[in-house]
Amino acid sequence: MKRFHVITIFPDIVTAYAGESIVARAVKDKLIAIKAYNPRDFLRGKSKNGYRPVDDRPYGGGPGMVLAADPVVRAIDRALSAARKGKRKTKVIILSPQGKEFTNAYAERLVKRYDDVVFVAGRYEGIDARVKTIFRAEEVSTGPYVLTGGELPALTMIDAMTRRIPGVLGKFESLEESRTASPDVYTRPEVYEWKGKKYRVPKVLRSGDHKKIDAWKETRIAMRKKKKGE
Ligand code: SAM
Repeated sequence: MKRFHVITIFPDIVTAYAGESIVARAVKDKLIAIKAYNPRDFLRGKSKNGYRPVDDRPYGGGPGMVLAADPVVRAIDRALSAARKGKRKTKVIILSPQGKEFTNAYAERLVKRYDDVVFVAGRYEGIDARVKTIFRAEEVSTGPYVLTGGELPALTMIDAMTRRIPGVLGKFESLEESRTASPDVYTRPEVYEWKGKKYRVPKVLRSGDHKKIDAWKETRIAMRKKKKGE
């Protein structure tokens, strides 16, 4: 079983996604396990006013707050402790817009090489850089944009990796995965009417001529690639 651990101050985001669709089915079938760890649960000591923040101001100045090292380190350590006992292969990933780009090929490599993957979701200005040093973590970005937190990137990676675990996708879904699908797909009705205008399914798709249909799909794929500048 592949185990995914997510270090986050918003664990409900993770549990909500893990409870739906193919990912939830993989959890139920014991092909994967997903667990969230909140650094707030790993804070040491008690503050005078009862409020213990997980973040602090950055050294050297600058805007925003930084997630402090200690509660994050302790949360990661907890996530890794069971894996260490089982001699499972582990990897720690810190989600960051400056990280290595996440791709299908990288997802495949992670699935093949590691049993336990720990994802550290940043918030605010990010995470104290010593966390990366301590765990020799790799920084990974899911795309050239900045999000509010690392939870969605972590779930994106978990989803893409889960689909690559043997047995997760049904036979038909696997087939869908392995081929390049046309970007334009249609279902019933044949003619759809919206605000007085009629939208028709392309004639070729209704022809039953699979050679022509495949040629049409190839053209659509090529057109999209050209548009994207590939
Ligand atoms: N100025 C910070 C920086 O450049 O890292 C922005 C931090 S962002 C508001 C908060 C957190 O969201 C980051 O620490 C990271 O965990 C996550 N994040 C945002 N965009 C991301 C992306 N494209 N890929 C991966 N993680 C991202």
